Amino acid sequence: METVVKSYCLDCEWEISATDYTADERTAAMIDHAIDTGHDVDSITRAEGADSDGSEVVF
Ligand SMILES: [Zn+2]
Repeated sequence: METVVKSYCLDCEWEISATDYTADERTAAMIDHAIDTGHDVDSITRAEGADSDGSEVVF
């Protein structure tokens, strides 16, 4: 299992935190941003049970 930490844009500084929005809201926002700007969006995920040391997976 993986937990989404946040979703972000590969082409600009846009991002949305998974702690402030539900999965549905986040998905809708990602789609809106992609359609509005033509940018590529991606998500940062963390394996469940991983140490919460604040580190993030950077692709
Ligand atoms: Zn963008």
